[in-house]
Amino acid sequence: MQSAVMQTPLAYLKGVGPNRAEILKSELGLETFADLLQLYPNRYLDKTQYYKINQLHNSGADVQVVGKIVNLKTVEQKRGKRLVATYVDETGQMELVWFRGHKWIRENLKINEPYVVYGRVNRYGSTFSMPHPEMELLKAHKAGLKVSMQPIYPSTEKLSNKGITNKVLSKMIQQLFLETKANFAETLSKSILNELKLISKADALLNIHFPKSQELLAKAQFRLKFEELFFIQMQLLSKKVARKKKIKGHRFTEVGTHFNDFFNNHLPFNLTNAQKRVIKEIRNDMGSSAQMNRLLQGDVGSGKTIVALMCMLLAIDNGFQACLMAPTEILAQQHYNGLKDLLLQMDIKIALLTGSTKRAERTFLHNQLENGNLNILVGTHAVLEDKVQFKNLGLAIVDEQHRFGVAQRSKLWHKGAQSSAEIGGVSLPPHILVMTATPIPRTLAMSLYGDLDISVIDELPPGRKPIKTVHRYDANRLKVFGFIKDEIKKGRQVYVVYPLIKESEALDYKDLMDGYESIAREFPQPNYQISIVHGQMKAQDKDYEMERFVKGETQIMVATTVIEVGVNVPNASVMIIESAERFGLSQLHQLRGRVGRGAEQSFCILMTSHKLSDDAKTRLETMCRTNDGFEIAEVDLKLRGPGDLMGTQQSGLLNLKIADIVKDNPILKLARYHAIQLFKNDPRLEKEENKSIRNIFSNLIKDKAIWGYIS
Ligand code: ADP
Ligand code: MG
Repeated sequence: MQSAVMQTPLAYLKGVGPNRAEILKSELGLETFADLLQLYPNRYLDKTQYYKINQLHNSGADVQVVGKIVNLKTVEQKRGKRLVATYVDETGQMELVWFRGHKWIRENLKINEPYVVYGRVNRYGSTFSMPHPEMELLKAHKAGLKVSMQPIYPSTEKLSNKGITNKVLSKMIQQLFLETKANFAETLSKSILNELKLISKADALLNIHFPKSQELLAKAQFRLKFEELFFIQMQLLSKKVARKKKIKGHRFTEVGTHFNDFFNNHLPFNLTNAQKRVIKEIRNDMGSSAQMNRLLQGDVGSGKTIVALMCMLLAIDNGFQACLMAPTEILAQQHYNGLKDLLLQMDIKIALLTGSTKRAERTFLHNQLENGNLNILVGTHAVLEDKVQFKNLGLAIVDEQHRFGVAQRSKLWHKGAQSSAEIGGVSLPPHILVMTATPIPRTLAMSLYGDLDISVIDELPPGRKPIKTVHRYDANRLKVFGFIKDEIKKGRQVYVVYPLIKESEALDYKDLMDGYESIAREFPQPNYQISIVHGQMKAQDKDYEMERFVKGETQIMVATTVIEVGVNVPNASVMIIESAERFGLSQLHQLRGRVGRGAEQSFCILMTSHKLSDDAKTRLETMCRTNDGFEIAEVDLKLRGPGDLMGTQQSGLLNLKIADIVKDNPILKLARYHAIQLFKNDPRLEKEENKSIRNIFSNLIKDKAIWGYIS
């Protein structure tokens, strides 16, 4: 693409001007010619086909039918009237329906004259009906036939209010084709175009905006989707190459006393095979001279913590410090307590740093970190503060990574680089291990995380019984209370979780408190003790309540989703989730993972009202059907798209202009394959035939210092 022209501000396009340019920017984020060119239609109205009435389907699609109105009548209904026309062709009859504008229609519609009607058809009983159709006399229709397929562009209320209708947008794009002479440069190589039989960039752009036929439209879509995914894959792969090649890491050569002592004398159980394999993978990484950047995926309860600990011991054996960062105070505290217990008989210094660590203690901690006395630091975001400096941080572990942002991960990276851990005068970043219980669907993992290595714990510790999950309506609450009483009688503990959504926070807190009161009434002291934990409490009060539950002093924990991640109370065997329809699937799965951690049969009860959306029903059914985090992640991805998937922001997959990583997964795989081949054959993109790819790619990574590593 002649990039200078394409960077022209839209205000300079004929028919746009400063006012419209401003609206296009604020509403659709369009600033330049290039942006407008890449405003791809959401859908197309297909006016190339004419349907016979007996060919109609109840598909909700917009269709075009040639026929005649033979009868027009007004039908009274509960509210207002509707005007119904009987519309026929040689194959059958259907109805056209209007709820408004009856007078005008009665006066203007012609009976027994051939029309073309256009609109969405629905079926009621055995009759098809088309509400508020577009109508054109067949004669006029034939005379005016120009556009075959009409593009429908993304729009907003403000755009249409300001007169920037679909037609106007389409005109602007036509104008852009005129002014640039549609002279759009090719962005892919000849060999890729040939091998995949792709149409040229210029043809693709023309046909995406003004498709000549369904077939050309499909080709244009394929070509543009491929290109989009291809360049994302190029970026991911190049990052990975860069890291492997150039980013040196601390080489942990020793498997020393601490690791061995722990493994032989203090491990409270046998590791599962999956845990062993994963530890080996991580050891290999840290034993090479490249920096590790690894994602450890393992379903809730699969035992990631012990893996984290053993990796930290490796770091210590090699003379380094390690840190473990958790997203919430409760979880950090729990990790700290758990690790301290495991390390009780070993000579390892471990400390906790959170937002509520007292000043004096903090200063002491900072010193201990800097002089190297402290081996392991467990903490929350507080660990990232500039004041926290390590003597020689060798391994940083982030638990429940999805709760953290990318920026935070990179801050950790720099913690190592700033510290005095230097080899040959160059400071090295720590190895980084991020852990998550929110699995990435297998279909996506490879293509999405080109720049991360992945380890998976795909096995639960032995003896776990699958959690039984049921869905109950609010009306059955008394029965559910009865069930809770039985479980408590058996010595078990129970979680009751309420949603807390930012937008409705005040109402949610009210629900929580109401719920707490009704539970307190149903489960009175002194027979029952109840804990309550939510985000508005002081940290120390939260800890206190949590502690009581952990120790078994309370039987019921009423909470918001603050307990979502990580909390480990093996004796808790019942998870009640209130208003379960308001939670996302991965959140439900995370919450359910709080139970089923001991030897007893555990239960998860999803409470809802009777009003459920289709998506909510699917979520509930999925939860009741399976405990498999991967299966749940796949369903979640289909329901929600990739927006909430960890890492999608980094990879640019959220801002896709045309491709959809779920629906277009086969194209994504193809794009990845070709990106890999390209890097194999021409790692620096030096060959003449890859010049166009190099141009685009250089632009994409301009700010990212990747070229430095590759070339
Ligand atoms: P998660 O992967 O969800 O972080 P945890 O590390 O909290 O899981 O482990 C869950 C529970 O399983 C803990 O109580 C832990 O002690 C226990 N556990 C971990 N590994 C094993 C194992 N190999 N055998 C038995 N119990 C294990
Ligand atoms: Mg955990």
